[in-house]
Amino acid sequence: MRKNNPAAIVRKTVETYADRPKKLTAELKRLLKEGEADNDLLLIGAVCCNLAEIYHAADDERKAFVNALKAEACLKDTGAFDLLIRVYTTLGSIYLYQDNSQMALSMDEAAWQLVRRHRVRGKTRIAVLNSLSANYYILGDVRKSIHLLTECLALTEESPDEDLVGRTRVMLNLAAYRLELGEREKAYEVLMSMAPWIDKAGSRTLTCDYYLRCAILSHMLEKHEQAGVFADKAFLFIPEDSCPVPLFDDFWDLLKFLFIRNDRERADRILKAVRVFEGKNQGTLQQIFTFRILAEHCRVFGEPERAVEYYKKLEELHDIQSNEIRKNQLRQIRRMKEADSEIRNLKKEMQRNEELASLEPMTKLLNRASLLRVSSEFIENAAKKGWKVGAIFIDIDFFKECNDTYGHARGDEIIREVARACRKEETKNVRFSRYGGDEYFGITQGLTDEKVCDIARRIAAAIRNADLPHAKNPNGGRVTLSIGVVNLAINDRTNTILDIANSADKALYYAKSAGKDRIIQQVLTGTDDGGSGASYVRIEF
Ligand code: GH3
Ligand code: MG
Repeated sequence: MRKNNPAAIVRKTVETYADRPKKLTAELKRLLKEGEADNDLLLIGAVCCNLAEIYHAADDERKAFVNALKAEACLKDTGAFDLLIRVYTTLGSIYLYQDNSQMALSMDEAAWQLVRRHRVRGKTRIAVLNSLSANYYILGDVRKSIHLLTECLALTEESPDEDLVGRTRVMLNLAAYRLELGEREKAYEVLMSMAPWIDKAGSRTLTCDYYLRCAILSHMLEKHEQAGVFADKAFLFIPEDSCPVPLFDDFWDLLKFLFIRNDRERADRILKAVRVFEGKNQGTLQQIFTFRILAEHCRVFGEPERAVEYYKKLEELHDIQSNEIRKNQLRQIRRMKEADSEIRNLKKEMQRNEELASLEPMTKLLNRASLLRVSSEFIENAAKKGWKVGAIFIDIDFFKECNDTYGHARGDEIIREVARACRKEETKNVRFSRYGGDEYFGITQGLTDEKVCDIARRIAAAIRNADLPHAKNPNGGRVTLSIGVVNLAINDRTNTILDIANSADKALYYAKSAGKDRIIQQVLTGTDDGGSGASYVRIEF
């Protein structure tokens, strides 16, 4: 039976099932059947208009396109300009998605003309302006799009509580465009101005999106702690049923910061959310985003084998995707390319971070773990080439008294000063580490004994000449170093870093017990029975 007010019935259905997307789609399809049975163009058009919007939001562009075209055909002569405006807006957005900005612009223009002719205000006017602005953005005129959005925003302020969802969309776009122009602070301001009402905006997806972007921007602005609070808030709003691709984009952006900050706990929460949607499979593109996140997470947090598995799946998906793309989905190609180059960049970034993580933060010298790695490389290499491996063990004299006299902060400065002198000596064959509180351990490969001693000399002289006051040091009332030096051939008796460190430690011990402020070199001498003994000689500087 033909309905009295089909548009109102559809609207009521949409409102009733707003929080249950699956049920809503089912109900709309049922109404569509009724409309087709009655040949009720308005009902068919209203249903298809809503279905197009739903499919478009879920990135199912093919279904969105078919429904939008059908809606347009049905509604054209019904006088339901409000629905028609929405259809044009959706079509505009789909054409954008297909990288057809020309068609997109003509759809948005069509919508804009209807809005003007019928003096439509409120929600619809805002949506059309928003979409027109997106078009200018895509065409590269970011300033014009910001201008349109600002007009939009003024409109939403006329009745601020009426359409919080629309207002959220406008403001999120505004923040995104500001960011695009490099105006981080302004973008941040836009987001912060939404804080008082965003929790009431009424859309889980948009609210989640909002908090994710707040977290990402906070990281960009080095407000890392605040970023954490926003991220936790975002996790509370992760949609339960379906998750549109743009949200995966944001997860991805946030994840990069979490990787850099080694924030495993939050990275795991994103992973958990993404896994929920992995099972739901809402399209190839979404799956690609899912696997991209899973792969990087495994790679960064020490499960390289699983990461490789995900990369393989990702490759398969890329193939499937390229086939789908051939059906005229150019925008997706761009996204794929972006994703690829992003993965490459991320890998580079991670490498840099790994390097940073191998350094001791205060001195920027190697930490103990990476000293072990570098030493075994040196030893292995030296064994192959018949080179010697040297060690320079440095300890600051009377450092405890220095702390007691001048304070811990001054002590820290001295630690850094000695580190700087060590760093100056670093080459690909000479690396220094901070070994402990006031101890430094240098390792060398392929240098002569003399060259190794020269390094120790220059460091000791640099600190002596820096003339850093240390009243409690009987050796001249300034900061001094004790240094033990060895340079050993790699053979059956000496082939681990422990052997080498023990020898250097012994030399250092002699330097300390003989009065400090000196360099002692351990020299191996041949003995009558063919073995070798060690003697300790002072190196002047
Ligand atoms: P010696 O001449 O025999 O080496 O005497 P010392 O006082 O230098 O030796 P000891 O190893 O007993 O003391 C090292 C001190 O270094 C103890 C600790 O308070 C201090 N220390 C360790 N790490 C740091 C740091 O990061 N900053 C500062 N300011 N002091 C540190
Ligand atoms: Mg000391």
